[in-house]
Amino acid sequence: MKKIENSYLKRSQSLLELIDKSPTPFHAVEEFKHQLKNGGYVELMEQDSWDLSPGGKYFVIRNGSSLIAFCVGSIMPDESGFKIIGAHTDSPNLRLKPNPSYVKNGYIQLGVEVYGGALLTTWTDRDLSLAGRVVLKEASKKARKSSRVKQKSLSSEGYGCASRLVKFDRPLLRIPQLAIHLNRSVNEKGLVLNPQNHLPPVFALSDGKIKSKKMLEELVAGELNCDPTDILGMELQLFDLQKGTLAGVNNEFVFASRLDNLASCHAAMSALLESPRKDSATRVLVFYDNEEVGSDTAQGGGSPFLKGVLERISAGGSKPREAFMRGIARSLFVSADMAHAIHPNYSEVHDANHLPMINSGPVIKSNAGQKYATEGVSASQFEQFCEKAKVPVQKFAIRSDMRCGSTIGPITAANLGIRTVDVGSPMLSMHSIREMAGSKDQENLIRVFKEFYKPEQFFTKRC
Ligand code: ZN
Repeated sequence: MKKIENSYLKRSQSLLELIDKSPTPFHAVEEFKHQLKNGGYVELMEQDSWDLSPGGKYFVIRNGSSLIAFCVGSIMPDESGFKIIGAHTDSPNLRLKPNPSYVKNGYIQLGVEVYGGALLTTWTDRDLSLAGRVVLKEASKKARKSSRVKQKSLSSEGYGCASRLVKFDRPLLRIPQLAIHLNRSVNEKGLVLNPQNHLPPVFALSDGKIKSKKMLEELVAGELNCDPTDILGMELQLFDLQKGTLAGVNNEFVFASRLDNLASCHAAMSALLESPRKDSATRVLVFYDNEEVGSDTAQGGGSPFLKGVLERISAGGSKPREAFMRGIARSLFVSADMAHAIHPNYSEVHDANHLPMINSGPVIKSNAGQKYATEGVSASQFEQFCEKAKVPVQKFAIRSDMRCGSTIGPITAANLGIRTVDVGSPMLSMHSIREMAGSKDQENLIRVFKEFYKPEQFFTKRC
């Protein structure tokens, strides 16, 4: 079998590094922030007045978990449009409840809620840890002086609060499966998990003396080098400590957590950072949180975050409202989210004419019920980018007797009235704690996105 070229492997390794650094949307956005700053992008605050200049490179973060970056075109959007790629930073997982700790049968356990459509059984018997955002009293002097975590990671949130990210690099938790001797029919009937009863992980043994309720706060305070009484709130989620890896006889696969959808974020960010600065059109990327729970949050795809930023980019001329609306009519939104590859053991769940293969290029997703926003023109435009980038392209539609999933594509298309295409790299084990994709497809997607972001590749009219 032919070996995969090295450039593909480097791309996939870079993706795996991002995933390992990003157990939560907060960590992913923090990593992208560093990348953008290194690439010369300037951070803007939503509450400040913006003074944007043509060719200027900027980014703005909302809630620490969503991000928009843009490179202002040399011509105003009313004449040149926006070239936008969107993806989401969140993945299905288990999240700690506000009062998580309790003692049961001699164990200290943590109550969890399911975030998104997780494949629950994959969370059992894993080496799990905790990561997330901790809200502290802003006055916490000890937290400010921490030598272990850099000062810049303490961000002021107003109202006397500051936030810090935390990530434990050792196994703290496990959701143990029941032994087969106590669940004899599990292989025939499948493992059925009640989220309330069966998912709380084991955290420690209780000796009857330890104040179990305080154990978690003390652990987090120790990691952040602050006092437990400085902690006002915690948003912690579980993640698998096992690092992502290249896999398969010829390294044709990647096995990792959160490929859906950090792979699309990584591809969009790589394309933006590697594109030449000067272009007539304004290049934009938007990474939303909360796609896996329906997008209807202040930082999700259902929010006015993107619309507000595009309006502010259009605000320089004498007719800002018209500039925005004319700009939208010249634009294309590429909604990037992972796609279903054909599963060799379950081919009956796929439509026989739509069988995307791993390492065979991005997939254009269509649905008659408009769960994907793709239409004829947007699909054709994306196919042309693939052709110019010399990357094969595939198509997906769900079986007619099955319900289709959705993306940020339709919600963005409906909010902005913008032409949209839904695309993504093919993968298996979607929403498992350990997903699987192709090592060649990351480079494939980046090449197509770079073609889209290529200078003077803009759309003059809406047909
Ligand atoms: Zn997704």
